[in-house]
Amino acid sequence: MPDPDPVGEEAGYQDTGHPIAGLKAADTHRFLTVVHRGWHAIDATDIDPGCTAHAWSVCATIVRVAKDEYQPYDPAVVPGSYDPCQECLWTVAARTDTLDAALARLTDPLAHDTVAAIFNEAGRLGFLGQYDANPMDDPATLQLVATVARHAPVILVAEGCAEGDCAHAGSCPGDLACRACSLQEGSWAGAGEGMYREECTVPAPCAVLLALAKHAGVITKGDS
Ligand SMILES: [Zn+2]
Ligand SMILES: [Zn+2]
Ligand SMILES: [Zn+2]
Repeated sequence: MPDPDPVGEEAGYQDTGHPIAGLKAADTHRFLTVVHRGWHAIDATDIDPGCTAHAWSVCATIVRVAKDEYQPYDPAVVPGSYDPCQECLWTVAARTDTLDAALARLTDPLAHDTVAAIFNEAGRLGFLGQYDANPMDDPATLQLVATVARHAPVILVAEGCAEGDCAHAGSCPGDLACRACSLQEGSWAGAGEGMYREECTVPAPCAVLLALAKHAGVITKGDS
């Protein structure tokens, strides 16, 4: 990651006329949205003024950036909410003090409770002085949390329901599957892109979520 230079960065950003130069001071706009196989966040204070075509995302992916397309990062709204990079999502939440809101959006009870338990443990360790800054902004903790969120169960609804062609009141019933473990049809499927493939639709909770929930103490060995 480019090392932000606290002395030189001010002049550097302004000299290049970088489009986000004015945004970097505003904390609410510190994180901007970029897309690269999912929606990522970039830290405006972390952009290399020497290269305006690429940037490191918060999750350390190199992303292409289009100058005029910067939007403040908000994983709660479309299009970012369709497929947010979970590493970016939780890292930004930890750095902007919005973990409660991120946790509230995790509606699956097992995934929600597992993430809460992981953060509680991180907070407990933080009080022992193992992290000198924010104990939640710890890459080892955030990796666990992002993995739980990626493997959180989703409800698969029938095609008719997805098209609004059903008589269900409220939310439609459907099987729970793990999006991360299952295969979805690619762009080669045209309008079918994103449909779960019958060859590999993994029921939820998957083994990954169960392992993390067990380790976090949310479920005991015998449960599943
Ligand atoms: Zn990311
Ligand atoms: Zn899974
Ligand atoms: Zn329905």
